Amino acid sequence: MSLRSTNIAKIRGGDFDVLIVGGGINGAVSAAALASRGARVAMVDRGDFAGFTSMQSSNLVWGGFKYMENYELALVRHLCVSRNRLIKAYPANLKEIRFLAALDEHSPYKPWFAGLGSTAYWAIGTFFTKPPKVYSRERLHKAEPAIDMQGVQGGIEYSDAYVVDNDSRFVFQFVRSALNVGAACANYVELTNASRDARGWKAHLTDTDTGETFDCTARVIVNAAGPFVDALNDQLGIESKHQIVYSKGIHLIVPRIVSNEKVLAFFDDTERLFYVIPMGPRSVIGTTDERVTEAVTHVEDEDRDFLLEQINARLDLPKPLTVDDIISTRCGVRPLVVEKTDKSHTDTDWTTLSRKHALEVDPSDSFVTIFGGKITDCLNIGEEVCAAVTELGVRLDKDRRDWYGEPPKATAQEFFRQARLMGLDKLRKRASFETLSTRLWRRYGMRAFAMLEAIRDDPTMADEIIDGAEYVRVELFYAAKTEMITKLDDFLRRRSKISLVLGREVLQDADGIREACELLFGDDADRRFDEYFSADVREQAAGSPQGTS
Ligand SMILES: Cc1cc2nc3c(=O)[nH]c(=O)nc-3n(C[C@H](O)[C@H](O)[C@H](O)COP(=O)(O)OP(=O)(O)OC[C@H]3O[C@@H](n4cnc5c(N)ncnc54)[C@H](O)[C@@H]3O)c2cc1C
Repeated sequence: MSLRSTNIAKIRGGDFDVLIVGGGINGAVSAAALASRGARVAMVDRGDFAGFTSMQSSNLVWGGFKYMENYELALVRHLCVSRNRLIKAYPANLKEIRFLAALDEHSPYKPWFAGLGSTAYWAIGTFFTKPPKVYSRERLHKAEPAIDMQGVQGGIEYSDAYVVDNDSRFVFQFVRSALNVGAACANYVELTNASRDARGWKAHLTDTDTGETFDCTARVIVNAAGPFVDALNDQLGIESKHQIVYSKGIHLIVPRIVSNEKVLAFFDDTERLFYVIPMGPRSVIGTTDERVTEAVTHVEDEDRDFLLEQINARLDLPKPLTVDDIISTRCGVRPLVVEKTDKSHTDTDWTTLSRKHALEVDPSDSFVTIFGGKITDCLNIGEEVCAAVTELGVRLDKDRRDWYGEPPKATAQEFFRQARLMGLDKLRKRASFETLSTRLWRRYGMRAFAMLEAIRDDPTMADEIIDGAEYVRVELFYAAKTEMITKLDDFLRRRSKISLVLGREVLQDADGIREACELLFGDDADRRFDEYFSADVREQAAGSPQGTS
């Protein structure tokens, strides 16, 4: 039986303390935190885990430097503390990264003032990162010669952090952590309805891959449906003080346009910050911030043209970027929380709307709703959900804080020692941005020891299967068994970032893609291959099957 079938079998007819609806970052941390504290947990997502908003972020873990513009100092402090805590817990997965901001006539601030702001930001973040710097015009040009210096007065540099692999893989680590301690989690399972009686909730579920329907019961439901929380609450008759509004953001992935391993930051023509973020051999340009009314969005020509125009005006590239340079795109909506009675958001500057989250607990219905949230804030959300569920009468064990974080440093050292002694990094034939040992440790932690064993037994396990994909054979074996990959997009776009980095056209003809399908899907390989490559590109860009429903 596959990992998914085993989990669906557990959910079917199961009785749980908590049923979590939604497997984005909010649902995944909730599952990991609750299950580690002894709750009987089920978590379902109607698409793949992290298949909606949580795969469309900028991959940044940040204290919110830009919220200082609105003097939201308490929020900045809160996010900086969350960022620092995450960096400490995930030394291999989250890295500090420098932001180099060029300040031109579109910047609302002079370099000296921005410098003061970045120092305050550093202090608010308890000096956890490297100190900020102010750059003169000349020093900025030297630091990044690709910046078009016309109109630029100078710059600043400060630190935040980024998710080295990608947001959705980071989310999956929490799903894995929940599975490890007995939670029943299944992707492509939708909560279609639920009713309540004196004993608790009866949930009606549909396997969106096969169409099969089944039920389970739960004392508490946690609504972690991201942009869909309001729709689910309305459907189940749950009343709330808050609601979600949507801000659309897109990213363009292009060949690497700057050599710097820093994030370049610019103010666009509307005085909004946008970035060029390194992603291995690629650069990610984004994002936008546009008020929309629908959760399902696509990259429109005008969004794309806007970003291309902005970046071409700010970088002095050998050749301006065009549509043909775009390898892939990301597009999603930020679920932003507002109070239902507060209508001021309808006429305020959209980009100034706070990025806080809110949790609502409904004791009469034993229901918790998570509104908003950020990847940066995920540990707090896990803890807040545990507190909310306790309030609803579910007894939890003490929080030993073992539901997040990487194995201890000594274990990492032992892994790298074994990898060095077996000559792992010399087995690679291709140049890469990082060593294979670094990559395996980051992606798999303790599970990487078993991979070393497999490579010792059969060195071809260290061969890259798809050229340029940064994935070796042994990873595919383990992914097939332990990462609940149901469709090819789950692997290419979410457990890995292969489709973002290589693009769909390259992948279709890539040597090794068929072997990858066979390893992942066995007898079902051809069907999954055809399903992926025949699907609508916009549907895949939007991220998930629910995008079109
Ligand atoms: C452009 C952009 C850039 C961003 N950049 C950053 C950043 O750099 N750093 C940061 O910290 N944050 C960032 N964010 C914010 C962050 O990505 C989101 O706040 C976060 O991913 C939301 O997670 P979620 O779990 O609430 O929602 P989602 O990830 O959308 O998860 C909700 C899930 O619920 C599922 N679902 C809905 N209804 C049902 C149902 N009935 N049954 C089963 N499943 C259901 C959906 O399929 C979906 O997968 C960004 C967001 C965007 C859009």
